[in-house]
Amino acid sequence: MSSFLKKVTDKTISRRSFLKATAAGTAGLALTGCGSVLAPVGGKVDAAGEEQGEWISAACWHNCGGRCLNKALVVDGVVIRQKTDDTHEDSPDYPQQRGCLRGRSQRQQVFGADRLKYPMKRKHWQPGGGDKSLRGQDEWERISWDEALTYITDELNRVKKDYGNRSILHIGGWSSRITDISRTLGLFGGYCEYWNTNSFGSWAMTPKTVGFMQLGVWDQTVNDRFDLRNCETIIMLSMNPAWSAMGSSSWHYRQAKKAGAKFIGIDPFFNATYSMLGAQWVPVRPSTDAALLLAIA
Ligand code: SF4
Repeated sequence: MSSFLKKVTDKTISRRSFLKATAAGTAGLALTGCGSVLAPVGGKVDAAGEEQGEWISAACWHNCGGRCLNKALVVDGVVIRQKTDDTHEDSPDYPQQRGCLRGRSQRQQVFGADRLKYPMKRKHWQPGGGDKSLRGQDEWERISWDEALTYITDELNRVKKDYGNRSILHIGGWSSRITDISRTLGLFGGYCEYWNTNSFGSWAMTPKTVGFMQLGVWDQTVNDRFDLRNCETIIMLSMNPAWSAMGSSSWHYRQAKKAGAKFIGIDPFFNATYSMLGAQWVPVRPSTDAALLLAIA
């Protein structure tokens, strides 16, 4: 294992290459741990290491719906660089499927020095919080899985008893609501989740909600995203892709806007997407959007 880690560490980019990459960047550059560097977004990819390795296509497993092209430069079985779609010129009808920084930093999930490999806790954390003055400065210590699971169950019981189920926030995206965690917390009495950050909903949830999707939640029977430009009116039900969706959804909605589509946002809150698209905002009370749709129907 140590020789493998040394191999990874030795493959980090040199300061000289980093400065070259920085100079080439036009839109942004992200640094992550381990002295490694991501290719600049929109800039030329530095050629360091290319002569020794091979660029291969890899999946972006975040399942955000973006389906961006992710390529990995592999040298001796180790991913040393990533890049995204540079296979053709960018254009409105044939846009590059360029990845976001989350997708472009996936190799850190495998090779990053800070990757979590086992449960840890803050040294001075205790059930109920412990010494909170050390937050951000405390050391971390390894604990066993049994300890971790015991802490979690004990704390969930304590929080529920003291503050009720509304104090439990479950984060994890739309698909998390059909997982064991959400089911467990549901059986535990319920939980809160966040609002308006559903990336998948930026494409496919509204058609299902208003009854256009016939074959089930995962079935993509909605029109292609390019077809958005043929819409006269696009109704968004609590959607905020400008904020919540990676990938190209906001870009496609803007193409629809340019083509003349009118946008209506039905939502208790005004958001960045409605602002970007100049949407007519219909501020319904929470949980009354279905009643509004039924009244319109
Ligand atoms: S938007 Fe980001 S996370 Fe989503 S598929 Fe593209 S690179 Fe991956």
